[in-house]
Amino acid sequence: MTTWENETICPVCKSTEVCTAYGPMDSPVLIVGDCPDPKSNMDITYNIPFINKSSGYRSGTATGTILFQLLKSLNWDYNHFRRMYLWGHKPNGDEKCYNHWKSQVIKEAIGKKIVLMIGTDAVKEFTGKSVMDVCGVKTQSEFISAPILPCISLSAVFLSAGEVKLVMEKFSKELEKIYE
Ligand SMILES: [Zn+2]
Repeated sequence: MTTWENETICPVCKSTEVCTAYGPMDSPVLIVGDCPDPKSNMDITYNIPFINKSSGYRSGTATGTILFQLLKSLNWDYNHFRRMYLWGHKPNGDEKCYNHWKSQVIKEAIGKKIVLMIGTDAVKEFTGKSVMDVCGVKTQSEFISAPILPCISLSAVFLSAGEVKLVMEKFSKELEKIYE
């Protein structure tokens, strides 16, 4: 495995405002979100996807905090899992950038046992299905061998708290199988 996890530049557009994969590379679990938080630069500033305040950083993103807390309530520490976004920088509409970042997800997914995929775009890209149709349903991807557990965007969690909680409970059951 290369050290691309330290990538601090997009090789296509040369942007240095990136947020690339983070967390133990040998984790059997990968969490993939759509893109860096549009309302905060914290994840890009620290280059940590789903950054959360309780990890010792000054601040976290809303989605990072929600993810951390939901998993913690099920007795999982998300710091044990590899995490990344489909877009390694803010979406810029450049298909070449997109294809680069997509290829990074495919690389990262190699050898993983489960991929928790959060968000409309990532789920659509990797399962070919609408997240509304497959939310919480383990789904195969033509791009990666690990099964994907799709989840709606955590930014909508207050609208669909029950639905997200259900996905996290299913995720927890998958983790129990992996870590038993
Ligand atoms: Zn780029």
